[in-house]
Amino acid sequence: MSEPIFASAADLARDLAAGTLSSEEATRACLERIESSDGDVHAFLHVRADEALSDARAIDQRRASGEALGPLAGVPIAVKDAFCTTGSPTTCGSRMLEGWVPPYDATVVRRLKEAGLVILGKTNMDEFAMGSSTENSAFGPTRNPWDLTRIPGGSGGGSAACLAAFEAPLAVGSDTGGSIRQPASVTGTVGVKPTYGGVSRYGLVAMASSLDQPGPCARTVLDAALLHAVMAGHDPSDSTSIDAPVPDVVAAARAGDVAGMRIGVVTELSGEGYAPGVEQRFQEAVAALAAAGAEIVEVSCPHFSLALPAYYLIMPSEVSSNLARFDAMRYGLRVGDDGSHSAEQVMRLSRGAGFGAEVKRRVILGTYALSSGYYDAYYGSAQKARTLIIEDFDRAFATVDVLVSPSTPTTAFPLGERTNDPMAMYQADLCTIPSNMAGNSSASFPAGLAPEDGLPVGFQVMAPPLCDDRLYRVGAALERVLTERWGAPLLDALAGRDRLSEGGRA
Ligand code: GLN
Repeated sequence: MSEPIFASAADLARDLAAGTLSSEEATRACLERIESSDGDVHAFLHVRADEALSDARAIDQRRASGEALGPLAGVPIAVKDAFCTTGSPTTCGSRMLEGWVPPYDATVVRRLKEAGLVILGKTNMDEFAMGSSTENSAFGPTRNPWDLTRIPGGSGGGSAACLAAFEAPLAVGSDTGGSIRQPASVTGTVGVKPTYGGVSRYGLVAMASSLDQPGPCARTVLDAALLHAVMAGHDPSDSTSIDAPVPDVVAAARAGDVAGMRIGVVTELSGEGYAPGVEQRFQEAVAALAAAGAEIVEVSCPHFSLALPAYYLIMPSEVSSNLARFDAMRYGLRVGDDGSHSAEQVMRLSRGAGFGAEVKRRVILGTYALSSGYYDAYYGSAQKARTLIIEDFDRAFATVDVLVSPSTPTTAFPLGERTNDPMAMYQADLCTIPSNMAGNSSASFPAGLAPEDGLPVGFQVMAPPLCDDRLYRVGAALERVLTERWGAPLLDALAGRDRLSEGGRA
């Protein structure tokens, strides 16, 4: 296997610009890697091998003709199957959309193409982005490259796993309650949920519109920042898109300087229910940031405990409304259309056959929460809780620059362990959901391996809205200190195992 698969996107971009590597070579290396390892990992639902190679050749030609290209031009990337892509199927992990090829590109996808990135394919996910393990995908789970018997997180497990499997250097995700950050945490990768409205949702299949936010997934902090800069910015096609300059995330990732920064450790996001190795690596990371010059304080956010229950009222309410569009009339699966059923029966049969159990659970829950007799008691109270969470953040950010916590309470759990226990599954997003509820920016960075199981631990950083650059400043500082301590980036532990096994085969 050639080296490009282990390189960062920034290093690939440098070699492409220098002419020592072609986009075709980089793309071919990723495709070969997908061919050899994705049978085990199953990060991809669709690989566009021929199209990717021809896109790569087109970029190489444009470069050869002297055209000025963007910083990531020619770099391969994977896209979560929740984003519309012309010419490639978009299933959102559901039978409901099996075989559907969208007639338009999501804004994020269009921006990737305009920036010259080469789309390798579409990554696996929990059905309609509902889950924390990819086990709700209608097309079978993704496996965690650190341990193939464990979950890669969810819903964007495919986007995180393809990075850890060295199948792609970059990926796009979407985060409604943690679907970028929790998979990043359990795969030892970087995942960022930008400020709500920072990246366009146009063409992202809607789950819960007031919470959904696309974001970058990468193996290094700088790579995530470079991708963030390509994805972000105002889009008139998304009515909640913010018309303001994108924070300079790339400069922040390059600076990685936390001297004088005030960092608040959230009291409520630790203690009971957190794995000892998660706590230990989290505390070590906090100490590392203190040694790098940050001032550490404890901050209480008493209403964060309401975030999970309020999310499981607001999110399903929006889900029940958004998923009403899958009515078997306009696109997607149609069952019973044989002339013997009424339109209503076709809708019922199609939705019954097309949606999986978790999606049905949430549609039913949301419909109930919005029903006239219960609206105030459920949806109304959840919105009040949401306000209290926003106020906790506002109070905290009046005294600190960022807040930090573990990204998720445990490391990757075994496949199957929580499939029959939705409440246990939902707990995986305990730390990530507050930032979706408030709309502020938030990220997960690798913090090392838990001593008890040798699996990755994630460090979450939360910043005020439109201060996404602070995430990268802290993430880069942490990455620098920890890489020095480990002697190599965390994922080199996996790449190293890989090189050994290849050596063994040779
Ligand atoms: N795991 C959470 C859920 O199941 C978050 C999903 C997401 O962010 N898309 O709702």
